[in-house]
Amino acid sequence: MIELAENFLKEVLLKIVNRDCPYYPCHFEGQTCLWCFCPFYPCEDESLGEYIEGKHGKVWSCEKCHWIHSVDIAIEVYKEIAYLIRYLPTEEAIKLLDNHKVMLGIKDKVMRK
Ligand code: SF4
Repeated sequence: MIELAENFLKEVLLKIVNRDCPYYPCHFEGQTCLWCFCPFYPCEDESLGEYIEGKHGKVWSCEKCHWIHSVDIAIEVYKEIAYLIRYLPTEEAIKLLDNHKVMLGIKDKVMRK
């Protein structure tokens, strides 16, 4: 494999599972790190997470959420986002995905599958 391709592959693999991360596995062994920062935060879905008391008041906790870290779900979320933004320039894509309602629509769609 040429060096450029190997470096690129390494970057992709680290998105899939990053065992170099000091927090791995932050949820469960075998999880994917694809959505390390959940794109739905805070989803406020109590079947996945919960509000807890933080230093500065209530904060949404994802500690018990395994959903977004399972490979099948992470890939479905990736697919939905990829279809949605595939013709958009990056800045427009970010603007669209910055809309929490749009994101929660994606989450609901994946949950219904
Ligand atoms: S509970 Fe799960 S789906 Fe909801 S914001 Fe947290 S990580 Fe994302």
